[in-house]
Amino acid sequence: MPLYKSQPIKIYNSLSGEKENFTPINEGNIGMYVCGPTVYSNVHLGNVRTFMSFDVIYRYFLHLGYKVRYIRNITDVGHIVDDIDEGEDKIAKKARIEQLEPMEIVQRYTVDFHNVLKAYNFLPPSIEPTATGHIIEQIEIVKKIIAKGIGYESNGSVYFNVVKFNETNNYGKLSGRNIEDMLANTRDTDGQSDKKNPQDFALWKKAEPQHIMRWPSPWSDGFPGWHLECTAMSTKYLGNHFDIHGGGMDLKFPHHECEIAQNEACTGQEPVNYWMHANMLTLNGKKMAKSTGNNILPSEIYSGGSPFLTKAFSASVARFFMLQAHYRSNLDFTNDAILAAEKGFYRLMEAVEGLKEIKPNTISTLDISSWKQNCYDAMNDDFNSPILIAYLFEGVRFINLLKDHTATLAPEDLDNFKNTMHSFVFDVLGLVDEKGAGNNSEKIDGLVNLLIGMRNNARDNKNFALSDQIRDQLIALGIQLKDGKDGTSFNIQQ
Ligand code: AMP
Ligand code: ZN
Repeated sequence: MPLYKSQPIKIYNSLSGEKENFTPINEGNIGMYVCGPTVYSNVHLGNVRTFMSFDVIYRYFLHLGYKVRYIRNITDVGHIVDDIDEGEDKIAKKARIEQLEPMEIVQRYTVDFHNVLKAYNFLPPSIEPTATGHIIEQIEIVKKIIAKGIGYESNGSVYFNVVKFNETNNYGKLSGRNIEDMLANTRDTDGQSDKKNPQDFALWKKAEPQHIMRWPSPWSDGFPGWHLECTAMSTKYLGNHFDIHGGGMDLKFPHHECEIAQNEACTGQEPVNYWMHANMLTLNGKKMAKSTGNNILPSEIYSGGSPFLTKAFSASVARFFMLQAHYRSNLDFTNDAILAAEKGFYRLMEAVEGLKEIKPNTISTLDISSWKQNCYDAMNDDFNSPILIAYLFEGVRFINLLKDHTATLAPEDLDNFKNTMHSFVFDVLGLVDEKGAGNNSEKIDGLVNLLIGMRNNARDNKNFALSDQIRDQLIALGIQLKDGKDGTSFNIQQ
């Protein structure tokens, strides 16, 4: 029986403002879409926090045995500076400044993004679609919205008529804004004269003659509005109605509000069952922003090359630091806070490493089942990683008691305890013990033992050439075999 059947999850749904029981549309399957980065600059540590929140959510679903289709896009066109409709495309602007092709900018920062994800041990999504790869789908959606009478063309651009839509639907239901408030907040820029109402947003923009990022459409040579890509890519891969849509808190409005409006205008139904928003990372109490210099790059964590850091930290320490806060809480990054997290991280890793040495006893004096359920309950309660970490430290206390022989565990409980610690620390939280503990070292142990077995077979068959070859090639890799009375053991040089 899959684990998810016995571990029901509650998710805080930004749309209802409540924690709700999570039931996927198709049992055992989850469709999840998370807005990806706009690849016009290096991702900063704040972006990493949002993607990490969803990485852990994805990991937990997989751990529970769900089959997940996880889509995280790359925004490579349409995102206008300041998130407004009139202005320069973020990527086009960077290309102009750096005197490169927009696609060179896209390539450079997509590669940077992938390097960061790898360094921080993120699982890749199932599909990573790009906005420019889905222009045709976006044009089709614009056509549908026009056909429904909600989209209108104006000077080669197409806009979404928010006021008309709001007559029959509720524009603002996600962000809690009403359209009068939105009117007060709209900036009166030149191009807005193309719009019927200041609150309307662009579905398609006519490109200026010098604009390179342009595609033919029934209305003009132009490019899609930012919100359209996510509607197109989420529904293409997950259907018109899917389970989870996520992103950072700052995307709630206008981006996600507009996505809902586009979907509803197009299909008449709400696209998403659970909207999830991850909270912001600040640096020394202030918003992280490129423009003010108040930011840290993910690579500066492990190089230590930031004026905000007194030393380098491993990516896993940064991961651990971030997961000590719940994804919906604000989190402030300071040098002192990551120094404290580092101590905790190594204490946890050392304890997990020490778990290997613990031998079973005939009786159990610790209640592993309740401890284990507490770990699950933490994650089942809207992915509460800080509470989970508190229970993992309860596990550290158990390990110390077991080491001192103050407590004992029977074989079955000990296995259960070891597996649970490993699953939560490595599989769910995605931490890596750089000193070689954790899953990889177990795999290496397994591989070396496999080779030892093959070497023994070779020796039994008097194939000494092969047995010596195995021994010598392992030595070349820094792995020394030692033949003793109880068989062969090995030693890995660090
Ligand atoms: P962008 O590339 O600007 O579209 O941002 C990519 C993702 O990072 C979005 O989900 C944003 O909401 C999120 N994000 C941006 N700044 C921060 C921050 N300081 N802390 C956490 N998440 C952020
Ligand atoms: Zn999006």
